[in-house]
Amino acid sequence: MILGFSARAGLLIASLFVTAGTAAAETAGAETRTPSTVTADAPPHAAVTVDHHAHVHSPAILDFLPKYCGSEGRIGPCPEVFTRAYSPEDLIAEMDAAGVARSLIMSTGYLAESPMMQPPLPEAPGILRAANEWSAALATRYPGRFGIYIGINPVSSSALPEMAHFARDPRVTGIKIHITNSDANLRDPQNVAKLASVFEMSHRTGLAVMIHMRTRAEDYGARDVETFLRDVLPQAGDTPVQIAHAAGWGGIDGPTLSALGAFAEAIEADRDRFGNVTFDLAAVWDEDTAADDLEALATLVRRIGPEHFVAASDFPFGGHLADYYAKVYPRLPLTDAEWTTIRTNTPDYDSVDYAKERIRP
Ligand SMILES: [Zn+2]
Repeated sequence: MILGFSARAGLLIASLFVTAGTAAAETAGAETRTPSTVTADAPPHAAVTVDHHAHVHSPAILDFLPKYCGSEGRIGPCPEVFTRAYSPEDLIAEMDAAGVARSLIMSTGYLAESPMMQPPLPEAPGILRAANEWSAALATRYPGRFGIYIGINPVSSSALPEMAHFARDPRVTGIKIHITNSDANLRDPQNVAKLASVFEMSHRTGLAVMIHMRTRAEDYGARDVETFLRDVLPQAGDTPVQIAHAAGWGGIDGPTLSALGAFAEAIEADRDRFGNVTFDLAAVWDEDTAADDLEALATLVRRIGPEHFVAASDFPFGGHLADYYAKVYPRLPLTDAEWTTIRTNTPDYDSVDYAKERIRP
């Protein structure tokens, strides 16, 4: 058994991993327990064919993790599942069992440049590069199975050079940005300017963007999304932008609903502006998430439009992929038609060809 933990434990772990000890995880579903709505004879939903958010650590990052997890910059210990050495074959076995044909792999190279690593390692840019190179090689090692996103820290001086290095690499679909882990701040004009330059480069290179955009601000929410929509997102032009965890960091709480609510308002006001924007539903709820939180999320999914949402697991944090998509996913109270739209949603950037065709002559 590869994953010996429940989806709920996985959700907690995912949040701890990214936030290093904020209380956000504890609030998700801990107060009100509702019985699972999943029953053995629930109608089967359409198969998820593409998982839009998965991680497999590279050897460079696995070597680095003992230093990172022992760093005085961390507030809490690294969860065991986070440090476990899953192989690409482990993920493929999970995909095959779940009927998932392809996964978008988010390189965890950005961990090397996390400010949680204290003191910073002089060799961090080399670890980042090695992690990204190893991830890129998965595209050719397992043809068709993986789309590859290199990791960058958007507020590090290595961000644009790293993007330049992979700009014309046909194995690479895009970049993964982890705002919480990089401790970028959407209320700091210099950080916003750096993010804008990264998005501008994504426009020039066609590198699709995947962004975990929740910051560490306790009152993260609508005002941060407003800054993002005004100063950052337009720089990407029509390049695909996928927003992780429905604009949160895993789980449903006030700040995440505030952020997604701000997106809903902006999208309802001008749908044409958001043709390139998707939200992934990775680790946003689990088997214990309260019914009113699920209802609040479902309402926002409807306002934004199910066609803007994509299936995702945040592997290895959600438990077995087959269970996650068959049992945990259906808890969100959407109609069968809405679920079919989301579960079969495969935007252009999913394809093998995207990574090649994004490269301009
Ligand atoms: Zn993730």
